Amino acid sequence: MKQPSTDSSGTGAGQCVCTACPLLCDDILINGDRVDRACVPGRKAITAALACDRVPPGGSPPPEAWENARSLPLGIALQRAVEMLSSARRVLVTGLASGTLEAITAACDLAELIGAAVDAGLPESAQAAGPTIARAGEVTAVWEELRDRADLVVFWNCDPAGSHPRFLERFVALPLADGRWRRTVAVGPDSVLPDGATHRHLVLAGDLAVEAARCLQLRIAGRHVPDTLDERLAIVCAELHELIHAANCVAIVTSSSDDPVGLESWSIVHLIRTITHEKPAFQIPLGGGLADGGANAAGAAAVCTWRYGAAGGIARADRMGGLFLPAESDARRLIDRGEVDAVVVMGRLSGLLEQAIADRGDALSLVRICDAQEPVLRPFGQTVQLRCASGLIATSGTMLREDGRRVVLTPHQTATAAPLRELLVDLTAAVRLARGLSAAGGRP
Ligand code: SF4
Repeated sequence: MKQPSTDSSGTGAGQCVCTACPLLCDDILINGDRVDRACVPGRKAITAALACDRVPPGGSPPPEAWENARSLPLGIALQRAVEMLSSARRVLVTGLASGTLEAITAACDLAELIGAAVDAGLPESAQAAGPTIARAGEVTAVWEELRDRADLVVFWNCDPAGSHPRFLERFVALPLADGRWRRTVAVGPDSVLPDGATHRHLVLAGDLAVEAARCLQLRIAGRHVPDTLDERLAIVCAELHELIHAANCVAIVTSSSDDPVGLESWSIVHLIRTITHEKPAFQIPLGGGLADGGANAAGAAAVCTWRYGAAGGIARADRMGGLFLPAESDARRLIDRGEVDAVVVMGRLSGLLEQAIADRGDALSLVRICDAQEPVLRPFGQTVQLRCASGLIATSGTMLREDGRRVVLTPHQTATAAPLRELLVDLTAAVRLARGLSAAGGRP
């Protein structure tokens, strides 16, 4: 959290960054226990972090580490984690999106040292066709570009109100830079906004989204559209064509969370390209938001791409040439198929990944580094859990907003545990020591 000022009582008061979702809202006000401007889930998360991270006068902070349900000193827990990783056949490092860029870099150092697979659990790494950007490129823009220029915003088979709660308030429900109001249209099952003078909901079943994008592209390009088209699809395409034709600048907001093959994202890229032949147009791709495992998915993708040439699905971390296997080496498949027997988790995971880990029972060992104040229990299997500083109120470093904008965090209050990055560096150093390697090296 960012804290520009401290009031006379010593209570942090000022504008802060919320790290509960990839929107990374930087206008949150915290004053004592009061949290202003955050959405309901954001306020709930920050309020809970404030309550958890406060050590009562005369009290002591929660334990630094646990092995299963038993608390133990940090040094011993690190040794247990080293033993676990050393005896594993193959390790996966995942959950990267909860950390800062600096923490993700430290996690990659650890992964390279132990030859682990690396995947943040992002949907694109699990798509059978691989990342859209590698197959077809992308025409995207920062969210302020949408706010200031797009006089038509199309919500394509997505609902940002649920996944990115303040996206509409901060970037859509404002006038354009020249003072005009924009039009919006939702295509798909969700209405996103109430129907009215400036918003239309074009109801369409989600499984028709690819066909709709392809037909609309044909219409915009002036090519023949099949006569056998589903009637509803034909109506939607005709109305969208009219709206796009009347607009000066078009933004299409999409979600990658329900596109297992990657066809929908591919069809949207080609649609946008065709529109750009006539007028400015771009895609605003959104991930799973609150439902995903962390606010820094863009940062995880950037660090992995820089080091291994791909955003995830890295079969073996190696800066001299990481092997990229989408839909093969993504975190969920590696766990489901029993291809890893130990997992290093930093921060929080999506529900699907947590379930995959639980399903492996005692066949999987776990090193979990997160800010939970209590052990995250599993019915079976060995778990070493290290407690780090709160990612919401006591973390410094850098994150990337989902559109790539850099956001700097400074702690709102003093941490009651070591930062995530520091614990990863300590764990890496302990592994090096156990292997008789020098402590130096491993930095980018
Ligand atoms: S929209 Fe996201 S980042 Fe913004 S306050 Fe809500 S949870 Fe936090």
